[in-house]
Amino acid sequence: MKILVTNDDGVHSPGLWALAEALKDQGDVTVVAPDRDQSGVGAAMTLLDVVRAAEIKSPVEGIEAFAVQGTPADCVILATEALVSEPIDIVVSGINQGANLGLDIINSGTMGGAFQGFFRGKPSIAVSVTSLTDVRFEAGAQAAAALVATIAANGMSTPMLLNMNLPNIAADQIESVEVTKLGPRAYIESVERGHDGRRTHYWIRHNKPVNHNVAEGTDVWAVRNKRVSITPIHALFEHTDGAADLQAMADAVSSRLGVNGRS
Ligand code: MN
Repeated sequence: MKILVTNDDGVHSPGLWALAEALKDQGDVTVVAPDRDQSGVGAAMTLLDVVRAAEIKSPVEGIEAFAVQGTPADCVILATEALVSEPIDIVVSGINQGANLGLDIINSGTMGGAFQGFFRGKPSIAVSVTSLTDVRFEAGAQAAAALVATIAANGMSTPMLLNMNLPNIAADQIESVEVTKLGPRAYIESVERGHDGRRTHYWIRHNKPVNHNVAEGTDVWAVRNKRVSITPIHALFEHTDGAADLQAMADAVSSRLGVNGRS
């Protein structure tokens, strides 16, 4: 089992190494992670500049590790195409400091790395703990190891992209482990205005909680209720409602373009 571990908090994040340490019993682990914090970059990739990578000394013994001047998606692309000689069987991204829930995952660099593994046909898992400070990584690391061990033993009928979030509590305080649906956005952004000399600047903060009453069975509900949430991500960008509205729009475009409606 060749396991690629990446993250978006950067190669110095303790969550990355807690994950690598827990996974090294499950197979051959290589860490390829951004050289700095890349939180919030989503699945962005670097196309207009060179990407540099340097092998570094891993704090976990027996693990090959690289720091990449790039995004989590860059890390997975470089790992699979250039840095790791054996085929990668599974990609695990995390452990992120902070939740990645609901439609917030669009912006998540943790998910961006996992998406890139999934696009390459590999089972891919994102792991996050719902706190920015005093984060407990132990339960998340053990949960990730259990997922990887299960996939190694049973395989997967189809390679899946899984988004796992854990409340920031000790394992013996966790109520249950739930397979959930992606909820609504958990947070939207606020902006703080500041002044440096003559100029105004802005800080975008991803910190304004929304959707306080979320449905049971969603990832947001689960972690707010001391549950571990495992969400399979599939066909994220589909929208099946509003067929009549959409036909009217297609007709309007057709009319404006003078299309004859051949079908
Ligand atoms: Mn992060």
